Amino acid sequence: APALSSNFLRAIVESDLAAGTHVREGLPSVITRFPPEPNGYLHVGHAKSICLNFGLARDYQGRCHLRFDDTNPEKEEQEYVDTIIDSVKWLGFNWDHEGPNGTEHHLHYASDYFEQLYAMAEYLITSGHAYVDSQSAEDMAANRGNFSTPGKNSPFRDRPREESLQLFRDMKAGKFPDGAHILRAKISDDAMASPNMNMRDPAIYRIRHAHHVRTGDAWCIYPMYDYTHPISDALEQITHSICTLEFQDHRPFYDWLLATLAEGGFFQQPVPRQYEFSRLNLTYVITSKRKLRQLVDEKIVDGWDDPRMPTIVGLRRRGYTPEAIQLFCERIGVTKSDGWIDMSTLEGCLREDLDPKAPRATAVLRPLKLIIDNFEAGTSVECSSPVHPHHPEMGVRTFPITRELWIEEEDFMEVPSKGYFRYYPPIGDAPGSRVRLRHGYVTECTGYDKDENGKVIAVHVNYFPDSKSGTPGSDTYKVKGNIHWVSAATALEAEVRLYDRLFTDPQPDGGGKDFMQALNPNAKEVITAYLEPGMTAAQPDQRYQFERHGYFVADRVDSTPGKPVFNRIVTLKDSWVA
Ligand code: ATP
Ligand code: MG
Ligand code: MG
Repeated sequence: APALSSNFLRAIVESDLAAGTHVREGLPSVITRFPPEPNGYLHVGHAKSICLNFGLARDYQGRCHLRFDDTNPEKEEQEYVDTIIDSVKWLGFNWDHEGPNGTEHHLHYASDYFEQLYAMAEYLITSGHAYVDSQSAEDMAANRGNFSTPGKNSPFRDRPREESLQLFRDMKAGKFPDGAHILRAKISDDAMASPNMNMRDPAIYRIRHAHHVRTGDAWCIYPMYDYTHPISDALEQITHSICTLEFQDHRPFYDWLLATLAEGGFFQQPVPRQYEFSRLNLTYVITSKRKLRQLVDEKIVDGWDDPRMPTIVGLRRRGYTPEAIQLFCERIGVTKSDGWIDMSTLEGCLREDLDPKAPRATAVLRPLKLIIDNFEAGTSVECSSPVHPHHPEMGVRTFPITRELWIEEEDFMEVPSKGYFRYYPPIGDAPGSRVRLRHGYVTECTGYDKDENGKVIAVHVNYFPDSKSGTPGSDTYKVKGNIHWVSAATALEAEVRLYDRLFTDPQPDGGGKDFMQALNPNAKEVITAYLEPGMTAAQPDQRYQFERHGYFVADRVDSTPGKPVFNRIVTLKDSWVA
């Protein structure tokens, strides 16, 4: 796990622990939750919230619940529940907790609380804290006012409690169509004049004749998010309810609701407290579910798990590791100020995680034929290299050198530019360049062939048989160029997908911009590459460093041993320019 640094939330938790704020019989003193709505796939922004909530529980011997906030039946599907569970697990977290009586599973659903939520709503009505409003949607909106204008009381605000209670029961019984009535909180006499719009008689129940994934047709009224969320927190005895900054203005209602219900005997003090942090904004990335859905629906990408997507399933398929994402979340920290985190920070964490553990391999991505004219055709010599330069325990890999090899196109120049040390031909009296074929021999360029269009199709060299890497005397050859290669006779041909950032604009949807205008047309390039022969064994999800190119993963969907397909995870260096 990454080294922990302090942040304002850890400071709050530590001071609560010191003060014993949440000491309760048989319960940990830190209980957090991650409460996604199952209406889409999780993205890198959610990862920040997951690492934060599960991380606090881990670091302070508490527990963290995964709770589905499933109160919008029309938008929610089992598919989303399943992928969210998978993604949280893949990120390295789980909701099991070793309690005094054994393992507890804290996977919860707000819909499990529908009965309790309903009973509390009846209590609010009978205690004068809620009423059924029968205004039309238009009147309700008009009477709500706006930031500069106080709202007006609904003509139904003072209807007798018994009447509201009867109407609410009839709402539940299915006697009205959608939108006919709504249950609203009555926080104070002058609540409709509150400068905080969220305090102006917020809706707490609405009529929706809709089928719910888990409760079926049992309900035709559904509780609102602002009502469900605090109560779910309190029922689960959450101590620190952490959410993004846009919910700061909802906190007064959160506190009022739980205090009112605690007075009614539904909860014991201390009730949960809400804390806000700034959401993750990552450059070159969008994190709105709606906009991500548009990319999928309009087939800009190949699905939710397209390796260009910032979804957790996309990052996973791209080759990101859970460790890199955790490291990133730790490194960016949590604050209350909005800002943009540079994509290179995430990529840096990824390289940092992969470098010490990725086996090295050779791949030629833009192949050009190299012919060693003084190497006997039909023969080969075995070459070898450590699987990892700093980890001898990872072993040694072997590959043959033969007369014909594949090298990168860019490792030859007909007319070398200044400071170019790779292959170039003899010019005038000057000999061609000397270059070491990495883990093989030193060679000298003698010429090249072109096709009828003037395109270079082969480079000719001679090799020095006494220059083989690792043999005595080989270091008497001093050469500046050192390139990778694969034997043409044994190379494994493989599909490689060169992925890049999906957008060219660092803030593709910033300032009301149309993110569709900022798509990077080069975000996916599919090529056929030549790999060293041992790569035939690559298992799906196995990550490698292709020397000089970057990190690559065998695609978890399309790759099979024997016929690998690779995704570029990230290049070796941050060389990205828009
Ligand atoms: P969207 O607005 O894209 O629909 P959401 O915030 O409504 O996303 P939820 O399923 O409600 O999606 O999110 C679950 C949790 O993840 C919430 O607590 C939310 O605050 C948090 N979260 C969502 N996006 C981010 C982000 N960009 N950075 C940090 N936390 C986030
Ligand atoms: Mg939400
Ligand atoms: Mg949202």
